[in-house]
Amino acid sequence: MQDTDTFVIFHKALMELSHSPAFIDKKRPQKLADLTALCAKLLNVDRVSVWQFPEERDRIVSEWLHTADGVTGETSSLYQSDNPDYFEALETERVLTVEDAQNDQRTRAFTPGYLATLGILSMLDAPVFDGARLSGVVCLESTTRREWSLPEISFVIAIADTISLINTHEAWLCSKQALEYVTRYDSLTGLSNIDSLRDRISHLASKIERRGFGSLALIWIDVDRLKSINDGLGPQVGDNVIAEVGRRLKQTTMPGKDLLARIGGDEYALIVRDHTMRDSLELTASKIRQEISKPIRLSGHSISVGASLGICHLPGDCETTEELLRGAEAAMYNAKHRGRNRACFYDSSIQVTARSRFALENELRAAIKNHTLDVFYQPIMNATGLKIESLEALVRWQHPERGWLSPIEFLGIARSGGLMYSLGECVLRRVCEHWKMAHDQDVTLPEISVNLAAEQVLVPELPGLIRETCGVYEVPLSALHFEVTEDAIQGDLGTLTDILEELVADGASLAIDDFGTGYSSLSRLKSLPFSRIKIDRSFISNLPDDEDDCAITLSIIGLARGLGLSVVAEGVETEAHEQWLRNQGCDYLQGYRYSRPLPFEKLIEQYFSAL
Ligand code: C2E
Ligand code: CA
Ligand code: CA
Repeated sequence: MQDTDTFVIFHKALMELSHSPAFIDKKRPQKLADLTALCAKLLNVDRVSVWQFPEERDRIVSEWLHTADGVTGETSSLYQSDNPDYFEALETERVLTVEDAQNDQRTRAFTPGYLATLGILSMLDAPVFDGARLSGVVCLESTTRREWSLPEISFVIAIADTISLINTHEAWLCSKQALEYVTRYDSLTGLSNIDSLRDRISHLASKIERRGFGSLALIWIDVDRLKSINDGLGPQVGDNVIAEVGRRLKQTTMPGKDLLARIGGDEYALIVRDHTMRDSLELTASKIRQEISKPIRLSGHSISVGASLGICHLPGDCETTEELLRGAEAAMYNAKHRGRNRACFYDSSIQVTARSRFALENELRAAIKNHTLDVFYQPIMNATGLKIESLEALVRWQHPERGWLSPIEFLGIARSGGLMYSLGECVLRRVCEHWKMAHDQDVTLPEISVNLAAEQVLVPELPGLIRETCGVYEVPLSALHFEVTEDAIQGDLGTLTDILEELVADGASLAIDDFGTGYSSLSRLKSLPFSRIKIDRSFISNLPDDEDDCAITLSIIGLARGLGLSVVAEGVETEAHEQWLRNQGCDYLQGYRYSRPLPFEKLIEQYFSAL
């Protein structure tokens, strides 16, 4: 046979193999098996092996060995230090044609333990590359002495090139996967990201449209209070909470569970397919909330978080991917507005609320500007529950169409609209006005507690503003008390201390509000000039039956005593609450049991007109 014929036969065979779909779909070891088998068959050699340099490049390691009897043997290594000539030849000559392997300078170091043992007489090596770098070698070993022909050499080089291509393709696939990972997944939780979520929804939505049946629901999950964890315990702890919530959601089995994604800081979304009846989704939602609310133990802390969920259907509630996302998000916000830690279904009026938010913000801005916000007062009683000790000022807004709005309904808007500071200013002015009105009627009101928002307590001008406002209405600062929530004191300690100490120096006193819901550290509490702690009403409502709440309340009362602070319990509604709290030594009581927040006139009429 002519050399050229042989060339053609060899290369055709290789082309056929390497281009066949079956081969392309095979995994790397099978590809190597096919290639080495083809080589052994066409060239009639006993052993064909593929070797690779490991990272250190101090040896080559066999990756695949084809032998006549099909035994692949164990991986073996050849060290450069034992065979320097061979390694040098590989690097410099690249293709080694060795007719007398046992005596050739390049390969004779293998003779005693290897070539002689196996009866190998001739060798042919061709280089495998990874890019420009030599990454391995295809090695033919023959037990008959041969002179390697040009077609044979060229064929082995082609085999080695094919392996190089496979390597490059694999590297490309790996980097593509890595890239895909970055663009499709969230690195903190390993969950899909919002882009993947969008794609998946679009895919499922078009399937539903094509088939004319099927449904999906999107559950938007927002972890409550994550901000206060970040602020109080540090972002690392916050990250761990996010990762743990992700893990739990991933592990939980739920009917119709499809793709789960992390779509923002503390937000996740779950696609539910087909199992989208309201009952089924309600069960799924409560399972999710249950999983999330189990305590998370992290570096010495036991953290409890809740979640607000919004659920939207496709095609029931909307038609497009974006509408589904927006609908589920709006429903989630609705759940938050209704007091968090619950699930809400989308209904079209939510969108109206979302749209009217903007209008409401403008109306609120105007109300603040025109000083038309009002303040109601709720008495705070002494431990007997019979005598008013002080009053808490609570903002109210009489909306022209909606009537009296409670702060829950508009503080969120004020906050997102950047109106908290001026809202606080407006409330203080109103309180001073009321105090002066009472004073002018010869009524001396007890101390009035005014709530200060986080947006106020970090502004260095605050004490000056308070002095000025009080000055206008001739209110002594000792007539006022300020309540700062636990969340609000997580900011820069230096600034906070300066501002709060200035207020105290001016004669006001300070309470820490909603205590027990945030994560303030004891040292922070000790270093700030508070004289009072208010126990959040969520701990009071289940007293004395809930053991955990009893324990928390007791520990807060104990802590207050240890720090020399007085304690107020909020949300006292029943006689049982009152008795239990009094027995534990709680100093002051506030709640509907004594009075709801009252308009100023009503307050005077009901409690102070006899004076
Ligand atoms: P807060 O400071 O914890 O105020 C106590 C809230 O608990 C008031 O709600 C009060 O009406 C309610 N409450 C009192 N006793 C009971 C009870 O026995 N049972 C129940 N279920 N609730 C009771 P309100 O007036 O709706 O205020 C809600 C929150 O809005 C306040 O919580 C406070 O954080 C904020 N807020 C109110 N007024 C102002 C203000 O002028 N400035 C700022 N920054 N925040 C304010
Ligand atoms: Ca308060
Ligand atoms: Ca409170």
